[in-house]
Amino acid sequence: MSALCEDYQRYLEPGFIPFDPVELARRTEEIVCRGDRRKYTKFYCTGVYGGIATGFACGCCLRCIFCWVNWSRDFPEKYGSFRSPAEAFYQLSRVARKARVSQLRISGAEPTLGKAHLLGLLEKVESSPFRLLILETNGILIGADPDYARQLARFKKVHTRVSLKAGTPEAFTSKTGGRPESFELPFRGIVNLLKAGASFHVAAMTADPRIVTKQERQKLLERLSLIQPALADNLEEEVVAPYPTTLKRLQHAGVKLKWDKGRR
Ligand code: SF4
Repeated sequence: MSALCEDYQRYLEPGFIPFDPVELARRTEEIVCRGDRRKYTKFYCTGVYGGIATGFACGCCLRCIFCWVNWSRDFPEKYGSFRSPAEAFYQLSRVARKARVSQLRISGAEPTLGKAHLLGLLEKVESSPFRLLILETNGILIGADPDYARQLARFKKVHTRVSLKAGTPEAFTSKTGGRPESFELPFRGIVNLLKAGASFHVAAMTADPRIVTKQERQKLLERLSLIQPALADNLEEEVVAPYPTTLKRLQHAGVKLKWDKGRR
């Protein structure tokens, strides 16, 4: 492990010290970004959204206990290869052509790390024959930097999916490791996207009462409604899935969930 990574935040364990996600983003960018190049672990096609070519970005600024992402989230220095915007676009195009799909996605851990890279890649998508790129984000950096939303809104082919992690500051800390005051950042990101006129929608694990209680779900919906009622009406609600990394992270955090038979 390099000196850079000695006190780097990995997965959560009982008694963890809450961190500033923006500071963790900055530290993670030191690992996964070099100029306008950033690390990806793979490019592949998947059936979600009706078939989509996906770039799996390395590194994140949260440490969700239910996260499904591979260990590149926790140990970004060990995984992935640096790609320029042109190289990432080439890889996405290659995968899309092979699978005969016209949509692209940047997902994985947190694709908004490395703003120069992402905007460079989006420029290439905008002038390409592809019809859509879906950007999947936790919204932290879009909340911390109002210019991010303005930049994203420039691209007519870009649709952002903001994935909220909690409905209260306390739940945000216990589930993501981020300090309670950072709970506001993704909501601020949503406001920034709205003001900028960007195409986006909001998702949350609110269909899973093991992760988000009824009361917390209600608070999250009310918070969204205060910004704009349609955001709550159109919330994409999902459940946690028992990926091996998810199970291990829950175990590290000391959280036990009951799973239906056959789901693990
Ligand atoms: S679930 Fe998303 S935001 Fe949370 S740690 Fe994983 S990649 Fe990051």
